[in-house]
Amino acid sequence: MDNSIENNVKNLSSRIPQANPYGEKITLVAAVKTQTPQSINAAIAAGITDIGDNHVQEFRDKYDLISPCNRHFIGHLQTNKIKFLLGKTQLYHSIDRLPLAVELSKRSENAEITSDILLQINIGNEPTKGGFEPDRAEEAYERISCLPALKIKGLMAMLPLDADENTLKRLAAHMREIYDKLRAYDPNFTYLSMGMSGDWRICVEAGSNMIRLGTAIFGKRFA
Ligand SMILES: *Cc1c(COP(=O)(O)O)cnc(C)c1O
Repeated sequence: MDNSIENNVKNLSSRIPQANPYGEKITLVAAVKTQTPQSINAAIAAGITDIGDNHVQEFRDKYDLISPCNRHFIGHLQTNKIKFLLGKTQLYHSIDRLPLAVELSKRSENAEITSDILLQINIGNEPTKGGFEPDRAEEAYERISCLPALKIKGLMAMLPLDADENTLKRLAAHMREIYDKLRAYDPNFTYLSMGMSGDWRICVEAGSNMIRLGTAIFGKRFA
């Protein structure tokens, strides 16, 4: 087992609070892009229960080599790759456009399953990022909640990488506001997935209850 991964996981478990200020339990998802199956399994052995992939090809290549755990998909998803994830993904974080939701619902319906999803919100209105505009979150929710084979479990966001702390706090708080507004009329809302290695403390403080950490667990990515 890789000791540094084990140490990182143990350190994080003591540093991440049990609950956010809303009293909600915080779920840690390990972001595993570019990591080897050995490293991923070391993290699972150290206590990681949930892992998130970005790339369908990587997900497929490593699928049979990974110890049992909850699987999340957190990366940009092309419609024609849904078939490789279907039934093997417990939560799709990155539903960032209507046609993707329509296709995932259609394929889930054909497979006689319901897929749990989060709607990705482009909270910083960044041209380089996917996701629904914050002002259109409600509209996206209304359209996607009609689709028969999807269950919307909450929202996902990535904060801008280069913003100062006050901006990050403001955006994270805005995200929680949008989440609370939708949660008020949907009892399925459970997850606000927001927070990476550089900003998870700010996000948890603002009310995130699911954080996705890569670097903090596995170290710097070189690939
Ligand atoms: C890579 C990635 C993360 C984790 O990023 P780190 O900064 O390494 O913690 C979280 N979410 C998504 C969507 C990612 O692609």
